[in-house]
Amino acid sequence: MKQVRRGWTTRAAYGWALLLSAIAMIWSAAACAEAPLVKTQGPGFYRVMLGKFEVTALLDGTHPFPIDTVVEGVSKAEVQRDLQRDYLEKPVQGSINAFLVNTGTKLILIDSGAGVLYGDCCGKLLANLRAAGYEPGQVDEILLTHLHKDHVGGVNANGAMAFPNATVRVSQADADYWLDAANKSKAPAFLSTFFDAAIASVAPYVAAGRFKPFTGDDEIVPGIRPIALPGHTPGHTGYLVTSDSKVMLAWGDIIHVASIQLQNPKVSIEYDSDASAAKRSRQTALELAAKKGYLVAAAHISFPGLGHIRKNGNTYDWIPVNYEAAPGQ
Ligand SMILES: [Zn+2]
Repeated sequence: MKQVRRGWTTRAAYGWALLLSAIAMIWSAAACAEAPLVKTQGPGFYRVMLGKFEVTALLDGTHPFPIDTVVEGVSKAEVQRDLQRDYLEKPVQGSINAFLVNTGTKLILIDSGAGVLYGDCCGKLLANLRAAGYEPGQVDEILLTHLHKDHVGGVNANGAMAFPNATVRVSQADADYWLDAANKSKAPAFLSTFFDAAIASVAPYVAAGRFKPFTGDDEIVPGIRPIALPGHTPGHTGYLVTSDSKVMLAWGDIIHVASIQLQNPKVSIEYDSDASAAKRSRQTALELAAKKGYLVAAAHISFPGLGHIRKNGNTYDWIPVNYEAAPGQ
């Protein structure tokens, strides 16, 4: 009798255990299904070493790039083919990248993102700079590739200097063009707000005597010198950053949509001030990067926008940098 009773008890306990584990499985499945989608990414910074310099790519945000209305000199069929080949669908999200270079003695920011000028998509550069371990007050120099909103907007925060100890530099040609309101009336209507934005963005630095345009290609700080790449804007400039014979070319807006313009570098952008000059500069920068094997820091190639260019007949390939969890260690 005791034997039977113990058997029943064991079987009952086993049955209960099965039932409870089934309930637990259903419960946990239900809990997973009910977890809300998070829909955010990690902080937007990515770091590499360039010789002894530390380079930190900073994401300002991504925005839907209106490909159909802004690319020029290319058929809709070609655009469609290029996007499909790269598994992209319209509207393609375009990255806005800036690059922080720590030379060991100076902290230099190349471009500054859009600030408030592109709306909620963007203007995340300061948050990402802090997430990357730096404070805006540590930045010594801001080197702008040009004075379009998505490059200059971030120097300004609520009418004040977002980088209170920095000097802002850009080519004299870009300063002469965008900071002269008289040019606004001669430019296409869609560019008129770009003049106002450029003037307002740099105003606090101008007032403080810390807006200093440059000419020529002399080193601005040890290891960094400008390279004129005009066309996208009159004074559009790249920066060659060199440490221990390693070279990085921060090329600004040489490429807006990599999938299309690396296949056909003749494709220009409605926003180019001079499309022919922009094409020549694109060819110059692509050839230079491919031939010399320079690391490229690209303002609008998918974040972090760091990689190399390989020539492939008449087209070019983009090879993103290999991911490293602990650079320089
Ligand atoms: Zn841009």
